[in-house]
Amino acid sequence: MNPTIHTDPTVFVIFGGTGDLNMRKLAPALYNLFLDGWLPANFAIIGTGRTKYTDESYRETLLEGINSFSRSGKAEKKKWDEFSQHVFYQVSDVKDAETYKEFGSKIDKFNADWKTKANVIYYLAVSPNFFPIIASNLAKAKLTADTKRVRIVIEKPFGHDLDSAKELNALLATIFDECQIYRIDHYLGKETVQNIMAFRFANSLFEPLWNRNYIEHVQISVTEQLGVEDRGDYYEGSGALRDMIQNHLLQLLCLVAMETPISFDAAEVRDRKVEVLRAMRKFGPDDVRNSAVRGQYSKGWMQGKEVPGYREEANVNPESNTETFAAIKFFVDNWRWKDVPFYLRTGKRLHQSASVITIQFKDVPHRVFPSESSESWQQNRLIISIQPEMSIRLQVQAKRPGLDMILNAVDMVFDYKGTYTNQAPEAYETLLLDTMLGDQTLFMRGDQVESAWELVMPILNAWQNKKSLSFPNYSADSWGPENAEALIARDGFHWFTLPLNGKK
Ligand code: NAP
Repeated sequence: MNPTIHTDPTVFVIFGGTGDLNMRKLAPALYNLFLDGWLPANFAIIGTGRTKYTDESYRETLLEGINSFSRSGKAEKKKWDEFSQHVFYQVSDVKDAETYKEFGSKIDKFNADWKTKANVIYYLAVSPNFFPIIASNLAKAKLTADTKRVRIVIEKPFGHDLDSAKELNALLATIFDECQIYRIDHYLGKETVQNIMAFRFANSLFEPLWNRNYIEHVQISVTEQLGVEDRGDYYEGSGALRDMIQNHLLQLLCLVAMETPISFDAAEVRDRKVEVLRAMRKFGPDDVRNSAVRGQYSKGWMQGKEVPGYREEANVNPESNTETFAAIKFFVDNWRWKDVPFYLRTGKRLHQSASVITIQFKDVPHRVFPSESSESWQQNRLIISIQPEMSIRLQVQAKRPGLDMILNAVDMVFDYKGTYTNQAPEAYETLLLDTMLGDQTLFMRGDQVESAWELVMPILNAWQNKKSLSFPNYSADSWGPENAEALIARDGFHWFTLPLNGKK
């Protein structure tokens, strides 16, 4: 790869440097950025945590992570030796304000060696409880003042509800300028997700149809086969609404529903997205009952293997009220989308792992063909498949070859694998590079996060305050509770699924 963009000298300080996220995602992403030539000649990665590593033993641990999880496979010795010379470790408890001075000394030394002032990126890959203390301790150690060069990356979840998100935003605002704060939603870094904007705004074909006059409804479905696994502790305090809808699914909805930005400038794009959240219809108590469905999986079988129900998972309350599935009907009340339903669905232990956006267009105003010709009649659909298949397919009606006039739906397909030979970068590669470049387009602004919380709070409150008597209400390997089918069937639609062999 020939990088088209120059990056400045950078020091990454990774809080949670011994954790799962760093091992599986961040370290492999940084290594691949290095392999592809995106990192500057002068860069340093300082991992930190309480575990006692030396630089050397820390490098060995990172290598294991990279060998297991890097998209480019096992590290080549020569390349790894080169990369690992830039990796360091510092033992530090985030609560110990004294140790932050050591970060300062290390950064000063890099600056002196490199004869420059490097960008410094503090990446908070730790429990959200630690976000405030780390930000405050960085400020106390005077490590945050350079608004041009110092950035802080905050992992999800950003807040536990609207109040805690506001509190965290308020604290960060006392220390950092908004242009220094990078709130990550890794979904936004996915190639297929970024492509939604390219697809919408670089083609003249779709925009004239992209409104209530032509679109009947939209579905956004992010389903997982995995259960909660060993994350019961975390998930008990979260649930599908907080873990997926408030961030990933609402961000996808914003990309589908946003107005055309006048440029690809970060502020402009983020303004257009937050307008969508503000235009979304707020839920009253009856709306929660009528337009939102929650579910929790029971034990069952997945691919020939018996799997426990959610309440039987480790660190889960045997009478847990936490939802592992949510389906919600939203509306965006503006000229473009008035009365077009947006159905969002997400859940664990479902039949298929897939993230798919389906846009169903309205039917033709009049069918000119005899009824027998159109038994398999289907309205036009645009299906944006984010993962695991990466494709966009436009389903149109066509005449089946033969002497009779039989119609059926066929796909016009753009699929990444068939079109491009180069491997798509991982979302974290894109996002880390953007952080280095100071580009916030794919990160969430404070008001965006708060608007998303505001929208889900009535649902969250209703579900928390009223224990579900029907849990568990769907079995592993199903498509979720029956009520979720009813939610959409009441409007005359059904949930779409995309067979993963790519065929209809
Ligand atoms: P994890 O595996 O539990 O790692 C936690 C990290 O925090 C460890 O490096 C641990 O290091 C460090 N830590 C804990 N207490 C500390 C203390 N007092 N002082 C210094 N370091 C301390 O968690 P994770 O899965 O990596 O997740 C980290 C964050 O990323 C969370 O906010 C999570 O929600 C978010 N996230 C994770 C993923 C993922 O795929 N894992 C995906 C999206 C978002 P020591 O034990 O060495 O101190």
